[in-house]
Amino acid sequence: MDRLYIIIPCYNEEKVLPITSGMFLDKLNQLVREGKISDESRILFVNDGSRDRTWDIICELAGQDPHFIGISQSRNRGHQNAVLAGLMEAKDRCEITISIDCDGQDDINAMDAMIDEYHNGCEIVYGVRKKRTTDTWFKRSTAEGFYKLLNWMGAEVVYNHADYRLVSSRVLQEFANFKEVNIFLRGMIPLVGFKSTSVYYDRAERIAGESHYPLKKMLALAFDGITSLSVKPIRMITAFGMLVALLSFVGIVWAVIGSLMGNTVSGWGSTVCIVCFMGGVQMLCLGIIGEYVGKIYLETKARPRYIISERTWEEEKKSDRNCKQ
Ligand code: UDP
Ligand code: MG
Repeated sequence: MDRLYIIIPCYNEEKVLPITSGMFLDKLNQLVREGKISDESRILFVNDGSRDRTWDIICELAGQDPHFIGISQSRNRGHQNAVLAGLMEAKDRCEITISIDCDGQDDINAMDAMIDEYHNGCEIVYGVRKKRTTDTWFKRSTAEGFYKLLNWMGAEVVYNHADYRLVSSRVLQEFANFKEVNIFLRGMIPLVGFKSTSVYYDRAERIAGESHYPLKKMLALAFDGITSLSVKPIRMITAFGMLVALLSFVGIVWAVIGSLMGNTVSGWGSTVCIVCFMGGVQMLCLGIIGEYVGKIYLETKARPRYIISERTWEEEKKSDRNCKQ
């Protein structure tokens, strides 16, 4: 029977964890009862360097039920790295992983359909939000703009799919060979290939606590997604450069003809406009190119993408040792 690992990144989630952990456990038990997954399945919490009691709660949960296990990152590294750490930890211990946020926003009942699709032969199943009626107008429109921008810039992502997805360990074994440090999972997983499909669900409101994805972080994620997955912005610069070059050629011809005909009016205004415009455009282009150079810099250093400092099962060993001393 297939073992399922549910991977849940948690950052300062002391308010929601006590509520949602029970929901995840009920779901796991139900799937086990229905014979869809093995009883060796686990709920793997990834503590992303939380500053509140999140890790203590995870350790308590692990003590209460063997289905709960947890790992802790040595510091806060962001949602994507936390999910990656969980996936890599799980890939050799199970056949199926499902990553989901811990705030109860994603409908856990979609897991049934995801696992059915897996049994039908799909290796990746994307959880896709049906509509965003529960989000505020602002969150909804910025999030939709986010997907449009990503696709327009050549980073292909599944529309309205965040990081709620089923990935088989077979895919993860291949994914482990993607060594880049700039990670944007929802754009990278489709690159692995294999048979995939989508499952639709309604997204609810956060059960408690606050979102960690304000507009600033979302813009950063979009920018990271684009520059990690596509070189289209650089191509656009090239195309734009050519256009400007063409226009300036026309301008030169016009200027030469003008001066030959003796119409050398003091063109101060137009000169200043062109200089300012070109200056601005050049700075922007340099910035975009610089972003890519920065990415290359980070990639060449090849620093670890996550560092796990603690594991709940090692904690148990540690406390055993302390007792014996
Ligand atoms: N998260 C994380 N590290 C971070 C920020 C967020 O592990 O630095 C986790 C968080 O605990 C949650 C998930 O990522 O489980 C999604 O975050 P959130 O619900 O705040 O984002 P939103 O749903 O509002 O986009
Ligand atoms: Mg959320």
